[in-house]
Amino acid sequence: MQSNYCLETTDVCYQYASGDVVLRRVNLRVPQGSIYAFLGPNGAGKTTTLRLILGLLKVQQGQITIFGKSLVKDRIEILRRIGSLIESPSLYDHLTASENLAVWQKIYRCSESRIREVLELVGLPNTGGKRAGRFSLGMKQRLSIAVALLHSPSLLILDEPTNGLDPHGMIEIRELLATLNRERGVTIVVSSHLLAEIEKLATHLGIIHRGEVVFQGTMDDLREQRQQVAAVCFSTINDEKALGIISRHIPGARRENGKIVVPPISDEQIARVNQALVEGRVDVHQIAVRRNDLETVFMNLVAEGSR
Ligand code: ADP
Repeated sequence: MQSNYCLETTDVCYQYASGDVVLRRVNLRVPQGSIYAFLGPNGAGKTTTLRLILGLLKVQQGQITIFGKSLVKDRIEILRRIGSLIESPSLYDHLTASENLAVWQKIYRCSESRIREVLELVGLPNTGGKRAGRFSLGMKQRLSIAVALLHSPSLLILDEPTNGLDPHGMIEIRELLATLNRERGVTIVVSSHLLAEIEKLATHLGIIHRGEVVFQGTMDDLREQRQQVAAVCFSTINDEKALGIISRHIPGARRENGKIVVPPISDEQIARVNQALVEGRVDVHQIAVRRNDLETVFMNLVAEGSR
């Protein structure tokens, strides 16, 4: 049966010659047509994984299947359908955008008309005689993506493409990737160490921490974890008195920004605390639950020592 996954890694492990085991049974499932964010702190093993997927490192243990084919058996055929940007972009500073693309167009043996097409696609149609060395970092990054797109790949793999860009440059790259996915149906794997950078863009994500995948699913799956209550906040007329009363019922209550904040408690406990406050003649203005934001969910997953 044909798998719906564009890319699958199964129990991939990797150890550098220096002896460090950096990947432990990495199982990634990248659905066809998705924008898959590969997320993790620096040093987690993202680049190593992507290098293995691109055949830049030799698989030592485990399997990699791309477009339903084994990377070991059909490497050349698979790589022909992948565009990638990993490590520093290979651009010639003394050449213009079109000239840079012409170099790669000859290597890829695709039609000359693709040069104009990809320049338009990445939003660089009018840079004319300007040399790449004088481009902003964002423009260089877009030109590198143009190179990766020349041969019309159906899978695009980008390692931290927004690294070092200013917020405006980041937005531009995000918009470009969203367009490529939506209008051209390109499956995109994009790595990042910052959730905020890709949370609006990604449909799926895998989180890696110290060489192990600690979460994999849709963005909605991750958002569901956010639904868990992180704290309950009581706003009252008299915080000092309220803290005394609440502390008798719930351990760990504290004052914070004009509220009493307590660890997650049940609805019954909330009702009991509320009643005790009223009986103690402390008016309660508001009771609110505080939920984890996505960044906190992510940070909890990759917290030191959480493995
Ligand atoms: P990430 O891309 O998530 O920042 P990497 O895959 O680059 O992580 O690195 C994972 C681990 O492998 C790190 O501990 C890093 O120091 C180590 N590492 C990376 N490249 C090499 C190498 N060529 N030789 C030895 N160790 C390496």
